[in-house]
Amino acid sequence: MDSAPTFRIGHGYDLHRLEPTPPTGPGRPLILGGIRLEHDRGPISHSDGDAALHAITDAILGALGEPDIGELFPDSDPAWKDAASDQFLIEAANRMRSAGYNISNLDVTIILERPKLSPIKAAMRAKIAELLGTDQAAVNIKGKTHEQVDAVGEGRAVEAHAVVLLARV
Ligand code: MG
Repeated sequence: MDSAPTFRIGHGYDLHRLEPTPPTGPGRPLILGGIRLEHDRGPISHSDGDAALHAITDAILGALGEPDIGELFPDSDPAWKDAASDQFLIEAANRMRSAGYNISNLDVTIILERPKLSPIKAAMRAKIAELLGTDQAAVNIKGKTHEQVDAVGEGRAVEAHAVVLLARV
């Protein structure tokens, strides 16, 4: 008898420090949820530093009880230097399907002082659904500021949380 649970829940979290972008600083272009934002600061990271995709990847891996994103794609491995985070999420989705699960729903919160996320929320939702091979209705994105306090509120970091419910196929 198949004893795999009907549902599995997972949570993911990520933070990247933001620094001025070239020519004045070492920050990368700011990419969140697979979508590029115009901003004068960007993440310090080994890969492209997409905190939203990293949090979603870890939420799915966590739900499956698989190794986390840092174990699967270590920042000491040159293979992942400058890597688009799309491939991390695609790998997590492949593991999910291999284990016999689909996304029931995914809820993501991105915390960033500026720029505003509202203009790209629909594009992020479409991109994430495409990478996961799921319906856009299963993906929700929320944007918040950190009310000008602490590192995130001072524009020196971006944070993302993701909660996912996987359902047995
Ligand atoms: Mg990260």
